[in-house]
Amino acid sequence: MTSLAFAFGLLAGSFLNVCIHRWPREQSVISPRSRCTKCSAGIAWYDNIPLLSYVLLLGRCRQCSQVIARRYPLVEFLTASTYALVAATHGFGLEAARAALLASMLIVLFFTDLEHMKLPDQVTISGIVAGVTFSLLVPLPSGVADVGFLVVGGYPPAWLLSLTESLAGAILFGGILYLIGEAYYRLRGIDGLGRGDVKLVAMVAAFLGTSEALLVLLLGCLLATLVGSVSVAVKRAGWRTPLPFGSYLSGAALVTIFAGDAILNRYWEFVLG
Ligand SMILES: [Zn+2]
Repeated sequence: MTSLAFAFGLLAGSFLNVCIHRWPREQSVISPRSRCTKCSAGIAWYDNIPLLSYVLLLGRCRQCSQVIARRYPLVEFLTASTYALVAATHGFGLEAARAALLASMLIVLFFTDLEHMKLPDQVTISGIVAGVTFSLLVPLPSGVADVGFLVVGGYPPAWLLSLTESLAGAILFGGILYLIGEAYYRLRGIDGLGRGDVKLVAMVAAFLGTSEALLVLLLGCLLATLVGSVSVAVKRAGWRTPLPFGSYLSGAALVTIFAGDAILNRYWEFVLG
């Protein structure tokens, strides 16, 4: 079953590559059909088989012989492995569908931010809607909504609790990121956080709830600081070099889909003794 998920992930990854290339350029992902990004020649189906075609063509376009970006096989392999991992950990139900959809969106955002410094609304806005919708189908773990209802003294049905958690998470985390971005802009006069980052974090909170969204934020900052310090030391680049924070957040969220529960449980064990 995991190999079936892997094969499906290869196809999905192939589509994600098209999204990564076209959405930041404001192009449609449906038409025209696949073409070489260098010479615009149409790609035949037998040259468009995920991973395999890249290997058989030795990483070059059949028409113009120019190098095919390594991102293509990388995204295909990454998506396939992620889908296999989703199947192994979540099975094949609604929960798996939610994890696979979120992971696919995060892979697109990781690469569009890395290559274009853009986090397309096509992903983030639809992601917020999808996350809220899924909260009705798969209950979110307890978080801010539980505390809220506890204070008010109500005992809501599970679906309402989950929906509230998703909506509150999106608003709360989007709001916090927005305020941090504004404060940073006032202090340093440059954009440290884009509007895309705000929507990305709101999307993650809508999908995962407030506890895991907080974990994503902390992990993302930790990763950005680590990689940032190393690259500054290596390249002697100034601190003002804009690092694509959205890529770190996407990476952190991908890890959290699979390891979030384990990390949070370990944390609570540690705190509560
Ligand atoms: Zn070509």
